[in-house]
Amino acid sequence: MGSIGIFGGTFDPIHYGHLRTALELKQRLSLAEVRFIPCAEPPHRKEAPVAGASRVEMVRAAIAGEPGFAVDEREFNREGPSYTVDTLRSIREENPDAPLCLLMGMDAFLGLTRWHNWNELFTLAHIIVAHRPGWRASAAGALGEVLHDRNTREIAELHSSLCGRIYVTPVTQLEISATDLRDGIGAGIDPKYLVPESVRKMLLESEIYARQG
Ligand code: ATP
Repeated sequence: MGSIGIFGGTFDPIHYGHLRTALELKQRLSLAEVRFIPCAEPPHRKEAPVAGASRVEMVRAAIAGEPGFAVDEREFNREGPSYTVDTLRSIREENPDAPLCLLMGMDAFLGLTRWHNWNELFTLAHIIVAHRPGWRASAAGALGEVLHDRNTREIAELHSSLCGRIYVTPVTQLEISATDLRDGIGAGIDPKYLVPESVRKMLLESEIYARQG
């Protein structure tokens, strides 16, 4: 059974940094599919994201027509903070025999030890870390230890086992930030060429971030 890539995020809004990363990881790791999972209630974010329905709609528009890309809305079907460990558990129940690869940027990985039940993540999925400009993994602390124990350079291991490895790989660096996009759009700056045209149209027509700006 093919390995499933799981790409969670607030996607507030989705942009080419997310999309290009997902595509390169899908190709490099020969993933059967990548599921974009918009976060319903981000546990760590101070500021609330825009309505989930808008974020889901933008993800859907952004990935339309890309084979092997899908949006998964399961985090909107539960109450309370959207913990990744719960999401992985439910995907694992539906896919007992598929390797699961949780995709994330280096910035997200560096905060991993603050995630709810973070050690359990490794009993459910591999973690694939895409380099992001300006961030570096530390060899010290709990994260350094886990990296030392679980790191692999063998893509084959991500297919021959269901979970438990960490694979760090560079991706084309596109220094696009959703926070900067929200601020820019709020200030009237056109997000052209930073997001897919379909998403840009939705942003300009709905003015969702203009209202916040
Ligand atoms: P914000 O600025 O709102 O925090 P963000 O894009 O960093 O936005 P998310 O949408 O939650 O936050 O990110 C989802 C995932 O995408 C994370 O794993 C993050 O590391 C990764 N990511 C975000 N921006 C980029 C980028 N420009 N290139 C590669 N990966 C990215």
